[in-house]
Amino acid sequence: MSDPLHDQLRSAVRALCADFGNDYWQAADQARAYPHEFVDALTDAGYLACLIPEEYGGMGLGAQEACIILEEINRSGANSGACHAQMYTMGTLLRHGSEDQKQRYLPGIATGELRLQAFAVTEPDAGSDTTRIRTFAERRGDSYVVRGQKVFISRTLQSDLMILLARTTPRSEVEKRTGGLSAFIVDLRDAHDRIRVNPIDTMINHESCEVFFDGLEVPAANRIGDEGRGFRYIMSGMNAERILLASESIGDGLYFVGRSADYASARKVFGRPIGENQGVQFPIADAYMDIRAAAAVRDEAARAYDAGETRGEGPNMAKYLASRAAWKAANVAMDTFGGWGMASEYGIERKFREARLYMVAPVANNLVLSHVATHVLGMPRSF
Ligand SMILES: Cc1cc2nc3c(=O)[nH]c(=O)nc-3n(C[C@H](O)[C@H](O)[C@H](O)COP(=O)(O)OP(=O)(O)OC[C@H]3O[C@@H](n4cnc5c(N)ncnc54)[C@H](O)[C@@H]3O)c2cc1C
Repeated sequence: MSDPLHDQLRSAVRALCADFGNDYWQAADQARAYPHEFVDALTDAGYLACLIPEEYGGMGLGAQEACIILEEINRSGANSGACHAQMYTMGTLLRHGSEDQKQRYLPGIATGELRLQAFAVTEPDAGSDTTRIRTFAERRGDSYVVRGQKVFISRTLQSDLMILLARTTPRSEVEKRTGGLSAFIVDLRDAHDRIRVNPIDTMINHESCEVFFDGLEVPAANRIGDEGRGFRYIMSGMNAERILLASESIGDGLYFVGRSADYASARKVFGRPIGENQGVQFPIADAYMDIRAAAAVRDEAARAYDAGETRGEGPNMAKYLASRAAWKAANVAMDTFGGWGMASEYGIERKFREARLYMVAPVANNLVLSHVATHVLGMPRSF
């Protein structure tokens, strides 16, 4: 059943995205340029602050509405990857940040004066095993001094603030391997002489970087919640991240299906539309149904998240199903467009590359299978 407010939101985001067509995204992709104009337009319209409560200047909406925004962005052919962190990091700050932190940062984020676009968890030696991260924040009086290295930290150069996960107690000294990790808000504007940032060239235009921390001082007042409980806080933020990125995949999937159905209906070969051939139309219909099924699981997870659910089952399943549905639709679009799928001007090959990311990030799909096998079905852990 459709909700009139959700329908209005969809139409408004669609209208904004219509000003940023394939030419815009194609040019940004080819130049490896950050889409500032698009991100500014989203910020000015308030969408990147949709999860910030109204008392701090945001829209005060929930995960369900954030899902609609990101889905519509990707469905239009755009790439939410330029700015999605401002939404998915919000869960950690809103659910676990102090009132002082919310007062200090949320109003600035809501107006666009401050950008919270960087989320730093992954490290080269730890990979998917987050509990093995080694970046260390050592307490010294009223501050922590951070040393270590992160990798694939997206939009570090386009952000004023970063949410950082670091060890505050060595792994060998904690009872549970998830203990001894803490989360911090890092003000990157003060950090220039103590961090080094090297962009990583990737197959998509994603502004990902290696980040080296060389004795960066972070005030203790910027630690989120209790020392040593950061893994828990980051995980609750990650549930939001999985639901929101599932929405991007659903948007990608609908983009591929829409483009494929249109092209298959218009393109004539052997004297008739290629879409009359069931070998062409059935895979498009099949991909569409997978996307709808993933969207139903995503909707359930988003509703539960808004109602306070903290378990990872729904968000993980939504992310897994949506990323696979989008990837299937991407391949169907490639087949439908024939050689033109590979021509940059059509946009399909760019979206094909972008859609592939979500099979790996923010969590590799094998790790989701492991989560469901062990946490949901109760089977023994393999690691
Ligand atoms: C473009 C891009 C942007 C990113 N942005 C960010 C960001 O902003 N912030 C951030 O913190 N991270 C970011 N990441 C990192 C991303 O979250 C990781 O790449 C991802 O979590 C996988 O980690 P890894 O690359 O180290 O792979 P690995 O952990 O080395 O895994 C490699 C492969 O082995 C498989 N594997 C590993 N262990 C097991 C196991 N026990 N059982 C079965 N299979 C296993 C995985 O499924 C995967 O297929 C980004 C990555 C990319 C590519």
